[in-house]
Amino acid sequence: MADISARIAILGAGPIGLETALYARYLGFQVEVLELSESVAANVVHWGHVQLFTPFGMNASPLGVAAVRAHDVQLPAANELLTGADYQQRYLQPLAASDLLVDTLRFDTKVLGIGRRGWLKQEGVGNPRRADTPFHLLCCNAAGKQWIHEAEIVIDCTGTYGNHNWIGQGGIPAVGELVAAEHIEYGIPDIQGRDRNKYLGRHTLVVGSGYSAATTVTQLVRLSDEQPEVPTQVTWATRRRRDCLPIDRIVDDRLPNRDRLAEEANCLAAASSGCLSYLAETEIVALVYREATDDFEVEFCGPRAVSHMFDRVVANVGYRPDNRIYAELHVHECFASGGPMKLAAQMLATRNPDTATDCLDQQSCGAQSLLNPEPNLYILGCKSYGRSSQFLLSVGFQQIRDLFTVIAERDDLDLYATMPQLAK
Ligand SMILES: Cc1cc2nc3c(=O)[nH]c(=O)nc-3n(C[C@H](O)[C@H](O)[C@H](O)COP(=O)(O)OP(=O)(O)OC[C@H]3O[C@@H](n4cnc5c(N)ncnc54)[C@H](O)[C@@H]3O)c2cc1C
Repeated sequence: MADISARIAILGAGPIGLETALYARYLGFQVEVLELSESVAANVVHWGHVQLFTPFGMNASPLGVAAVRAHDVQLPAANELLTGADYQQRYLQPLAASDLLVDTLRFDTKVLGIGRRGWLKQEGVGNPRRADTPFHLLCCNAAGKQWIHEAEIVIDCTGTYGNHNWIGQGGIPAVGELVAAEHIEYGIPDIQGRDRNKYLGRHTLVVGSGYSAATTVTQLVRLSDEQPEVPTQVTWATRRRRDCLPIDRIVDDRLPNRDRLAEEANCLAAASSGCLSYLAETEIVALVYREATDDFEVEFCGPRAVSHMFDRVVANVGYRPDNRIYAELHVHECFASGGPMKLAAQMLATRNPDTATDCLDQQSCGAQSLLNPEPNLYILGCKSYGRSSQFLLSVGFQQIRDLFTVIAERDDLDLYATMPQLAK
């Protein structure tokens, strides 16, 4: 068993950071969870209006359920489909307030970078003695104060939601995008709620061909249908071939809501009528945000090379890990996904990235896939998947279980197996 006095720094109080902290505390480790925002699961709150497609039973670990129940909190049923906001309020907040976690959380603490005391990046390559000195984490708060936090073990659970991809061709920013970025929405706007007036009666360009884009497009069309007297228009641009629909439906999808969303979005694109224009094989070359008129001039590639005007731009083009945090440490990254190499290689070996696979079919790739060349540094949660959007919370819980077989040096350790499962 690793020295129980080892200090574990967990970066990010999202669902995986919290569940990791709970597991570590249960085993008796000293834990501090460093979270940049003022609340738990800030990213989940950001997309709080979106319904999770996995039922609650898949989004809570047996250990977490036991910790929350110990406080007499009524949990959702295992088959309930929650919104992100409900998931945060009804599970993650009570979890953070539970006995083992309440003292571990350090809010308003952004981790800017991690170094190894006494070692530069180019020193001690493959040398286990790097583990003899602690990690130094440069932290800051919103007021700009900076300080160093020390830990023997670092588990990076900072997710990817705060680090979006770009809409330009080949994944680089489109011309002008860097300047216009603060006016572009890279998340999923709450079109039925807090962002309604921003989109009502406006013409929005939606870029992307995943479930997030499908959510944005269907919500905008709903808004247009609800208030036809204030015409709301949508242009949906994707790189997809003209003879393909924008969303790849999963054959016999076991998650009916996910399939309904794909079907609805595909039907709208196929009809491409009324308030919605669907543009396949369309990429964005350049865009300019015009402050005076609060709109965008956008240039597409190819036959539509002339400029088009839009009031809003929503770029649902995915997210990527922020690897600047561990730039001074030894992390072997996958050149395609940007995730840690061992895990990426395992994932590539077990699935074809060019076909629509169901993320429900995944399993954790085992403890060895979580090791990095830098001793005692681990990357868990959706960040461990790099740019892939296939991560599932249930896989994250398996990662946690696998990781602590390594940290605690006990192959058969599985705290989840000893907890009662959530009843349906
Ligand atoms: C719209 C949407 C719907 C999804 N639906 C499902 C679903 O139904 N089922 C499912 O299994 N998965 C779903 N996912 C995928 C995934 O499970 C979620 O993204 C989940 O939130 C990932 O958890 P996480 O803890 O890894 O990261 P996050 O939830 O992103 O948490 C990361 C935390 O780290 C903090 N942080 C970031 N940077 C720093 C820093 N430098 N220093 C300190 N703290 C930092 C953030 O503030 C945040 O609190 C969905 C994802 C999205 C975007």
